[in-house]
Amino acid sequence: MTTRHEHWIQGKAVPPANGAYLPTLDPATREAGDEIAAGTSADVDHAVASAAAAQPAWAAASGAERSAVLHRVADAIEADAETLMELERACTGKIPAQLRSELDMSAGYFRYYAGILRTHHGRTIDLGHDNHTYTRLEPYGVVAAITPWNLPLNQACRALAPALAVGNAVVAKPSELTSASTVRLARLATEAGLPDGLLNVVTGTGPEVGSPLASHPVVRRIMFTGSVATGRALGHIAADRLIPMTLELGGKSPLVVFADADLDRAVGAAVTAIAMNSGQVCSATTRLLVEASAHDEVVARVADAVGRLEPGVDFGPIITEAQFHSVLGHFAAAEAEGAVPVTGGSGYADGPGAKGLYVRPTVYAGVRPDLRIAREEVFGPVMVTMPFADEADALAIANDTEYGLVAGVWSGDVARGLRLAERIDAGQVAVNGGALTIETPFGGFKQSGYGREKGIEALHDYAQVKTISLSIR
Ligand code: ADP
Repeated sequence: MTTRHEHWIQGKAVPPANGAYLPTLDPATREAGDEIAAGTSADVDHAVASAAAAQPAWAAASGAERSAVLHRVADAIEADAETLMELERACTGKIPAQLRSELDMSAGYFRYYAGILRTHHGRTIDLGHDNHTYTRLEPYGVVAAITPWNLPLNQACRALAPALAVGNAVVAKPSELTSASTVRLARLATEAGLPDGLLNVVTGTGPEVGSPLASHPVVRRIMFTGSVATGRALGHIAADRLIPMTLELGGKSPLVVFADADLDRAVGAAVTAIAMNSGQVCSATTRLLVEASAHDEVVARVADAVGRLEPGVDFGPIITEAQFHSVLGHFAAAEAEGAVPVTGGSGYADGPGAKGLYVRPTVYAGVRPDLRIAREEVFGPVMVTMPFADEADALAIANDTEYGLVAGVWSGDVARGLRLAERIDAGQVAVNGGALTIETPFGGFKQSGYGREKGIEALHDYAQVKTISLSIR
């Protein structure tokens, strides 16, 4: 019997107002999975009303009180890890290591923002003895969080933890492809003591749920992670309503490797960029720029390593049939423009890879920077490589993109690595494999979006600053 996942509103499971459900798919087997509630604006209205009713008392609680609840939510995620990972696996086909790392980060977001609440407050502003002047971080009220399918629970927690921490109530709209883990999270949060109505999940499609949610007059802020096209559509709604939003969009991020770098580690970083979540990561560094003298060697090593990766073991499938064909369409366009992959460039004709929506890890070497495959986000296990002559050339190619999400630089000369990092137009740059964690702010330059997630910056994004000044003359 098919399992059905209902909405989660006002601390309980709520069937969809119209009684309709949507199917899901396991892309590792192409078999049908659970069903999710097909929400409509009636469900959105119900969830927003619940959020609005619950929010003032939550905002009035002390940071320490909210912190205690968020810690219990983190505990609950960890205790429920096996179920959450199975729900996630069933609709994404992710491999176990990927599931585990996303699960750990999901709990980590709640832990991190719970910690910040005990130490981070507004500030006092010294205007002399005649005044007492201070700022407060005040919540917006009801926040909408619209999230995609590539890292479902992780992306939900990345938004929900800081939004709730600062005293907002949330209505979450996960991707209709991958909703079950977010619904489960809301149940866990309720059971862990998060007051009813503070975290509601309405599942369904973008037009049926996401759009009415963003347009709802009581929603005061939007957090969106997804495609540029949908981000732009939601941006219009936010502009009309004069409400702020965070936009976490796409990328075509550079990985710059100088000949004197630790090439073993740099090759490892390139292989990870291709394999991790099958390249379905907005921050994947999918343009490999290598100093000309080392280009062919590095490319050969990357191609050899990714050619040995096994579908279902080292990397997962593409999320949907449509996205699978979109990736293959990129291959066809590259071929029409004269580009030939050094490895990959197709799906699997037989073996375990043919059973699911798996694409062979693919490398196009020495591509012209004007080709579509070199400019557009593919969202598959696909990398393009380009040689560069020197530091200035590397910088020019790295910045020759409409995106600016992340970058990686590998250099034996650390000063040169940092010089480049400071000049690349991107929200995050890792030099020689520097760590990027929950503590490090994440977000885009250029078409990759605006606003910041993670770090203390995200807490500020979900708060509005109020200044209060008292004359004490
Ligand atoms: P992707 O192409 O990566 O699936 P989308 O931007 O289409 O990215 O989807 C990201 C999220 O945005 C999903 O939750 C999806 O349902 C939602 N969404 C899609 N279209 C709209 C829309 N017109 N309005 C609001 N939300 C939408």
